[in-house]
Amino acid sequence: MIISVASGKGGTGKTTIASSFIKIAHDHIAVDCDVEAANLYILLDPLVRKTENFIGGAKATLTGDCINCEKCEELCRFEAISDSAVSIKFDKLKCESCGVCAYVCPTGAIELIPEEQGKFFISDTSFCPFIHAKLNPGAENSGLLVTKIRNISEDIAHKKNKKVIIIDGAPGIGCPVIASLNGVDFALIVTEPTITAINDFKKVYEVACFFNVKSLVCINKFDINTDNTSIIEKFCFSKGIEVLDRIPYDEDVPRYLAEKKFIVDNLESPASKEIRNLWNKIEKVLYCE
Ligand code: SF4
Ligand code: SF4
Repeated sequence: MIISVASGKGGTGKTTIASSFIKIAHDHIAVDCDVEAANLYILLDPLVRKTENFIGGAKATLTGDCINCEKCEELCRFEAISDSAVSIKFDKLKCESCGVCAYVCPTGAIELIPEEQGKFFISDTSFCPFIHAKLNPGAENSGLLVTKIRNISEDIAHKKNKKVIIIDGAPGIGCPVIASLNGVDFALIVTEPTITAINDFKKVYEVACFFNVKSLVCINKFDINTDNTSIIEKFCFSKGIEVLDRIPYDEDVPRYLAEKKFIVDNLESPASKEIRNLWNKIEKVLYCE
Protein backbone atom coordinates (compact mmCIF):
# COMPACT_ATOMS: atom_id res chain seq x y z
CA MET A 1 0.00 0.00 0.00
CA ILE A 2 1.21 3.48 -0.80
CA ILE A 3 0.13 6.57 1.10
CA SER A 4 1.14 10.03 -0.06
CA VAL A 5 1.03 12.90 2.42
CA ALA A 6 0.15 16.01 0.42
CA SER A 7 -0.67 19.58 1.33
CA GLY A 8 -0.92 22.09 -1.49
CA LYS A 9 0.40 25.04 0.48
CA GLY A 10 3.80 24.62 2.18
CA GLY A 11 4.06 25.04 5.94
CA THR A 12 0.88 23.21 6.90
CA GLY A 13 2.78 20.58 8.89
CA LYS A 14 2.89 17.96 6.14
CA THR A 15 6.47 16.89 6.80
CA THR A 16 5.95 16.90 10.58
CA ILE A 17 3.07 14.50 10.12
CA ALA A 18 4.80 12.36 7.47
CA SER A 19 7.96 12.07 9.61
CA SER A 20 5.86 11.09 12.62
CA PHE A 21 4.23 8.29 10.62
CA ILE A 22 7.67 7.16 9.48
CA LYS A 23 8.83 7.04 13.12
CA ILE A 24 5.90 4.99 14.45
CA ALA A 25 4.94 2.79 11.48
CA HIS A 26 6.13 -0.80 11.00
CA ASP A 27 7.26 -2.70 7.97
CA HIS A 28 7.53 0.33 5.72
CA ILE A 29 9.67 2.44 3.41
CA ALA A 30 9.92 6.23 3.43
CA VAL A 31 10.21 8.45 0.38
CA ASP A 32 10.76 12.21 0.28
CA CYS A 33 9.23 13.45 -2.98
CA ASP A 34 9.96 17.10 -2.22
CA VAL A 35 12.97 16.98 -4.53
CA GLU A 36 13.19 20.77 -4.95
CA ALA A 37 13.58 21.44 -1.22
CA ALA A 38 14.25 18.09 0.45
CA ASN A 39 14.30 18.40 4.24
CA LEU A 40 12.96 15.14 5.63
CA TYR A 41 16.51 13.71 5.67
CA ILE A 42 17.51 16.28 8.31
CA LEU A 43 15.15 14.62 10.77
CA LEU A 44 15.64 11.01 9.66
CA ASP A 45 19.46 11.30 9.75
CA PRO A 46 19.97 8.61 7.09
CA LEU A 47 23.05 6.51 6.46
CA VAL A 48 23.42 6.84 2.68
CA ARG A 49 24.15 3.46 1.03
CA LYS A 50 23.98 4.53 -2.60
CA THR A 51 24.12 7.84 -4.47
CA GLU A 52 23.30 8.15 -8.17
CA ASN A 53 23.21 11.01 -10.62
CA PHE A 54 19.87 11.97 -12.09
CA ILE A 55 20.25 12.64 -15.81
CA GLY A 56 17.40 14.86 -16.93
CA GLY A 57 16.56 16.85 -20.03
CA ALA A 58 19.06 17.68 -22.77
CA LYS A 59 20.50 21.19 -23.10
CA ALA A 60 21.87 22.87 -26.24
CA THR A 61 25.65 22.72 -26.28
CA LEU A 62 28.21 23.95 -28.78
CA THR A 63 30.23 20.93 -29.87
CA GLY A 64 31.45 21.89 -33.38
CA ASP A 65 32.81 24.84 -35.35
CA CYS A 66 30.73 28.01 -35.15
CA ILE A 67 30.96 30.49 -38.03
CA ASN A 68 29.06 33.11 -36.04
CA CYS A 69 26.17 33.39 -38.48
CA GLU A 70 23.79 34.19 -35.58
CA LYS A 71 20.93 32.10 -37.02
CA CYS A 72 20.52 30.17 -33.79
CA GLU A 73 20.41 33.35 -31.74
CA GLU A 74 17.76 34.89 -34.02
CA LEU A 75 15.50 31.84 -33.84
CA CYS A 76 15.76 30.88 -30.18
CA ARG A 77 12.39 31.98 -28.75
CA PHE A 78 13.64 31.64 -25.20
CA GLU A 79 16.55 34.07 -25.51
CA ALA A 80 18.89 31.36 -24.33
CA ILE A 81 21.58 32.24 -26.88
CA SER A 82 23.77 35.33 -26.91
CA ASP A 83 26.60 36.45 -29.08
CA SER A 84 30.19 36.89 -28.04
CA ALA A 85 33.23 38.08 -30.01
CA VAL A 86 34.27 34.53 -30.96
CA SER A 87 31.11 32.39 -31.02
CA ILE A 88 27.71 32.06 -29.42
CA LYS A 89 27.01 31.29 -25.74
CA PHE A 90 24.15 29.32 -24.22
CA ASP A 91 22.27 30.18 -21.04
CA LYS A 92 21.41 26.70 -19.79
CA LEU A 93 18.87 27.99 -17.30
CA LYS A 94 16.86 29.54 -20.14
CA CYS A 95 17.25 26.68 -22.64
CA GLU A 96 13.95 24.79 -23.04
CA SER A 97 15.51 22.00 -25.11
CA CYS A 98 13.35 22.71 -28.18
CA GLY A 99 16.19 21.81 -30.60
CA VAL A 100 15.58 24.68 -33.05
CA CYS A 101 19.16 25.94 -32.80
CA ALA A 102 20.61 22.52 -33.63
CA TYR A 103 18.20 22.21 -36.57
CA VAL A 104 19.11 25.55 -38.17
CA CYS A 105 22.86 25.56 -37.54
CA PRO A 106 24.57 25.39 -40.98
CA THR A 107 27.69 23.70 -39.60
CA GLY A 108 25.95 21.20 -37.30
CA ALA A 109 27.84 22.73 -34.41
CA ILE A 110 25.07 22.35 -31.81
CA GLU A 111 23.99 19.19 -30.00
CA LEU A 112 21.40 18.60 -27.32
CA ILE A 113 23.23 16.75 -24.58
CA PRO A 114 21.50 15.23 -21.53
CA GLU A 115 22.83 16.69 -18.30
CA GLU A 116 23.02 15.76 -14.66
CA GLN A 117 20.17 17.63 -12.98
CA GLY A 118 20.43 16.25 -9.48
CA LYS A 119 21.16 13.21 -7.36
CA PHE A 120 19.12 10.59 -5.60
CA PHE A 121 20.04 8.63 -2.50
CA ILE A 122 19.12 5.22 -1.13
CA SER A 123 19.65 5.07 2.61
CA ASP A 124 18.99 3.23 5.82
CA THR A 125 17.58 4.95 8.88
CA SER A 126 16.87 3.67 12.38
CA PHE A 127 13.26 3.15 11.32
CA CYS A 128 13.16 2.02 7.69
CA PRO A 129 14.82 2.29 4.27
CA PHE A 130 14.63 5.83 2.94
CA ILE A 131 14.85 7.25 -0.59
CA HIS A 132 15.26 10.92 -1.28
CA ALA A 133 16.66 13.22 -3.96
CA LYS A 134 17.98 16.68 -4.55
CA LEU A 135 17.40 18.58 -7.77
CA ASN A 136 20.18 20.99 -8.75
CA PRO A 137 19.27 24.70 -8.40
CA GLY A 138 17.46 25.83 -11.56
CA ALA A 139 17.23 22.26 -12.89
CA GLU A 140 14.03 20.97 -14.45
CA ASN A 141 12.25 17.62 -14.68
CA SER A 142 11.39 17.43 -10.99
CA GLY A 143 8.38 15.27 -11.92
CA LEU A 144 10.68 12.81 -13.69
CA LEU A 145 12.96 12.66 -10.64
CA VAL A 146 9.99 12.01 -8.35
CA THR A 147 8.84 9.20 -10.64
CA LYS A 148 12.38 7.78 -10.56
CA ILE A 149 12.59 7.63 -6.76
CA ARG A 150 9.06 6.29 -6.49
CA ASN A 151 9.93 3.45 -8.87
CA ILE A 152 13.05 2.69 -6.81
CA SER A 153 11.02 2.67 -3.59
CA GLU A 154 8.55 0.20 -5.09
CA ASP A 155 11.42 -2.08 -6.19
CA ILE A 156 12.93 -1.98 -2.69
CA ALA A 157 9.55 -2.57 -1.05
CA HIS A 158 9.07 -5.60 -3.28
CA LYS A 159 12.57 -7.01 -2.60
CA LYS A 160 12.43 -6.41 1.16
CA ASN A 161 8.81 -7.47 1.42
CA LYS A 162 7.73 -4.17 2.98
CA LYS A 163 3.99 -3.62 3.19
CA VAL A 164 3.70 0.17 3.24
CA ILE A 165 5.36 3.05 1.40
CA ILE A 166 4.97 6.43 3.09
CA ILE A 167 5.55 9.36 0.75
CA ASP A 168 6.21 12.86 1.95
CA GLY A 169 4.83 14.62 -1.13
CA ALA A 170 5.98 17.90 -2.59
CA PRO A 171 4.07 21.06 -1.65
CA GLY A 172 2.12 22.87 -4.37
CA ILE A 173 0.24 21.39 -7.31
CA GLY A 174 2.96 21.20 -9.99
CA CYS A 175 4.70 18.26 -11.68
CA PRO A 176 6.33 16.79 -8.54
CA VAL A 177 2.96 16.74 -6.77
CA ILE A 178 1.31 15.05 -9.72
CA ALA A 179 4.14 12.49 -9.79
CA SER A 180 3.85 11.88 -6.06
CA LEU A 181 0.06 11.29 -6.23
CA ASN A 182 -0.25 9.27 -9.39
CA GLY A 183 -0.80 5.57 -8.63
CA VAL A 184 -0.91 5.79 -4.82
CA ASP A 185 -3.62 4.08 -2.77
CA PHE A 186 -4.48 7.07 -0.58
CA ALA A 187 -3.63 10.74 -0.33
CA LEU A 188 -3.66 12.20 3.14
CA ILE A 189 -4.13 15.91 2.53
CA VAL A 190 -2.83 17.97 5.44
CA THR A 191 -4.42 21.38 5.53
CA GLU A 192 -4.79 24.21 8.03
CA PRO A 193 -7.58 26.74 8.60
CA THR A 194 -6.16 29.61 6.56
CA ILE A 195 -7.58 30.94 3.30
CA THR A 196 -4.49 30.10 1.21
CA ALA A 197 -4.26 26.59 2.67
CA ILE A 198 -7.95 25.96 1.97
CA ASN A 199 -7.59 27.11 -1.67
CA ASP A 200 -4.52 24.94 -2.21
CA PHE A 201 -6.16 22.00 -0.45
CA LYS A 202 -9.01 22.14 -2.98
CA LYS A 203 -6.52 22.16 -5.87
CA VAL A 204 -4.62 19.14 -4.53
CA TYR A 205 -7.92 17.38 -3.98
CA GLU A 206 -8.77 17.98 -7.65
CA VAL A 207 -5.41 16.51 -8.71
CA ALA A 208 -6.05 13.43 -6.54
CA CYS A 209 -9.54 13.07 -8.05
CA PHE A 210 -8.09 13.30 -11.56
CA PHE A 211 -5.90 10.29 -10.79
CA ASN A 212 -8.74 8.44 -9.03
CA VAL A 213 -6.83 8.56 -5.74
CA LYS A 214 -8.94 8.48 -2.59
CA SER A 215 -8.38 11.58 -0.43
CA LEU A 216 -8.43 11.65 3.34
CA VAL A 217 -8.04 14.89 5.23
CA CYS A 218 -6.31 16.02 8.38
CA ILE A 219 -6.83 19.58 9.64
CA ASN A 220 -3.67 20.69 11.38
CA LYS A 221 -3.72 23.56 13.90
CA PHE A 222 -7.51 23.39 13.64
CA ASP A 223 -7.99 25.65 16.67
CA ILE A 224 -6.20 28.71 15.24
CA ASN A 225 -9.38 29.60 13.31
CA THR A 226 -12.41 27.44 14.02
CA ASP A 227 -14.58 29.31 11.47
CA ASN A 228 -12.18 28.28 8.69
CA THR A 229 -12.01 24.76 10.15
CA SER A 230 -15.80 24.61 9.71
CA ILE A 231 -15.43 25.74 6.09
CA ILE A 232 -12.98 22.86 5.44
CA GLU A 233 -15.27 20.37 7.15
CA LYS A 234 -18.31 21.56 5.19
CA PHE A 235 -16.39 21.29 1.93
CA CYS A 236 -15.25 17.76 2.84
CA PHE A 237 -18.80 16.77 3.78
CA SER A 238 -20.12 18.10 0.44
CA LYS A 239 -17.55 16.03 -1.47
CA GLY A 240 -17.79 12.90 0.68
CA ILE A 241 -14.20 13.25 1.92
CA GLU A 242 -13.45 11.77 5.31
CA VAL A 243 -11.81 14.18 7.78
CA LEU A 244 -9.71 11.69 9.70
CA ASP A 245 -8.43 13.99 12.41
CA ARG A 246 -8.07 17.52 13.76
CA ILE A 247 -4.71 18.29 15.31
CA PRO A 248 -4.45 21.20 17.77
CA TYR A 249 -1.86 23.94 17.61
CA ASP A 250 0.99 22.93 19.88
CA GLU A 251 4.06 25.03 20.64
CA ASP A 252 6.08 21.89 21.22
CA VAL A 253 5.91 21.05 17.49
CA PRO A 254 8.23 23.82 16.19
CA ARG A 255 10.44 23.46 19.26
CA TYR A 256 10.93 19.74 18.65
CA LEU A 257 11.58 20.33 14.95
CA ALA A 258 14.20 22.96 15.72
CA GLU A 259 15.93 20.44 17.98
CA LYS A 260 15.71 17.74 15.25
CA LYS A 261 13.42 15.64 17.43
CA PHE A 262 10.20 13.81 16.56
CA ILE A 263 7.09 15.33 18.11
CA VAL A 264 5.61 11.83 18.49
CA ASP A 265 8.35 11.07 21.04
CA ASN A 266 6.73 13.61 23.35
CA LEU A 267 3.93 11.55 24.86
CA GLU A 268 2.46 14.54 26.72
CA SER A 269 2.10 16.78 23.66
CA PRO A 270 -1.54 17.20 22.50
CA ALA A 271 -0.42 17.29 18.84
CA SER A 272 1.63 14.11 19.34
CA LYS A 273 -1.37 12.28 20.81
CA GLU A 274 -3.54 13.27 17.84
CA ILE A 275 -0.86 12.31 15.29
CA ARG A 276 -0.60 8.85 16.90
CA ASN A 277 -4.37 8.63 16.83
CA LEU A 278 -4.34 9.65 13.17
CA TRP A 279 -1.79 6.96 12.29
CA ASN A 280 -3.93 4.31 14.02
CA LYS A 281 -6.86 5.36 11.84
CA ILE A 282 -4.71 5.31 8.71
CA GLU A 283 -3.43 1.83 9.52
CA LYS A 284 -7.04 0.66 9.67
CA VAL A 285 -7.67 2.22 6.25
CA LEU A 286 -4.45 0.76 4.83
CA TYR A 287 -5.00 -2.76 6.07
CA CYS A 288 -8.77 -2.99 5.87
CA GLU A 289 -9.54 -1.55 2.40
S1 SF4 B 1 17.38 24.21 -27.74
FE1 SF4 B 1 15.79 25.74 -28.13
S2 SF4 B 1 15.70 26.89 -26.21
FE2 SF4 B 1 17.62 25.77 -26.16
S3 SF4 B 1 19.08 27.19 -26.96
FE3 SF4 B 1 18.38 25.95 -28.68
S4 SF4 B 1 16.73 27.13 -29.60
FE4 SF4 B 1 17.11 27.99 -27.57
S1 SF4 C 1 23.80 28.69 -36.06
FE1 SF4 C 1 25.68 27.48 -35.74
S2 SF4 C 1 27.24 28.60 -36.85
FE2 SF4 C 1 25.54 30.00 -36.64
S3 SF4 C 1 25.98 31.14 -34.78
FE3 SF4 C 1 24.74 29.41 -34.18
S4 SF4 C 1 26.23 27.82 -33.62
FE4 SF4 C 1 27.33 29.36 -34.79
